[in-house]
Amino acid sequence: MATPDLRERLVENLSRIRGRMADAARRSGRDPADVVLVAVTKYVDAEQAAWLPGAGCCELGESRPQSLWTKAAAVADPGVHWHLIGHLQRNKIRRTLPWLSWIHSVDSRRLLDALQQEAEAAATRVRVLLEVNVAGESAKTGFTLADMLPLADQFDRWPRLRIEGLMAMAALEGDADAARRDFSQLRELRDAMQRHCPPHIQLQQLSMGMSGDYEVAIEEGATMVRVGSAVWEGLLT
Ligand SMILES: *Cc1c(COP(=O)(O)O)cnc(C)c1O
Repeated sequence: MATPDLRERLVENLSRIRGRMADAARRSGRDPADVVLVAVTKYVDAEQAAWLPGAGCCELGESRPQSLWTKAAAVADPGVHWHLIGHLQRNKIRRTLPWLSWIHSVDSRRLLDALQQEAEAAATRVRVLLEVNVAGESAKTGFTLADMLPLADQFDRWPRLRIEGLMAMAALEGDADAARRDFSQLRELRDAMQRHCPPHIQLQQLSMGMSGDYEVAIEEGATMVRVGSAVWEGLLT
């Protein structure tokens, strides 16, 4: 397909996804405006990622820090916000922070400490979600469920970080019902943590749901869905 047709396809995909997101929100009595679509760019190069703002999507997610640097430099649109959704090694924090609006994938205390230190040095703040391995899969990164309540008592240790919620992926092997259980567990964990944390911290965000399960995630309270394959459907060779 020629580039204009591919861009048209991207617009159609985004519109179809947003329609389904809105339906899922209404089904569960929520306002569609309360759920943000983060378009994941990991399947495409910087040139295609740069089509997103023109197609009406300014919340962009990338899982690899190095790819994020390249793509963020190529997408020179000031309205765009970048979300890191994959593991961040501590030696890449300094170079990654300036590009980021959000990190969804903060998965250890060591990373919280290192982010705090770098954000302090740069006199900046960063919006953070804590990644929880709700499905308890050994191959996944993230805090365990048992880590979380003790952590909520200590949020004041990281004053440069705006800890705004939780992120999770549903179990790899599982149907929609299993995904629903994982998502509702994340929501309940968030509610329990909110009761433990310092009052100035508001855990409003639940980043959960991908191409295969974003509607279920929204029904269970997702405020951000991270969608890749469905966004680029028909554009990948
Ligand atoms: C790749 C990825 C996504 C998007 O997955 P799709 O199934 O392609 O929509 C979401 N979240 C994370 C953390 C990812 O790595």
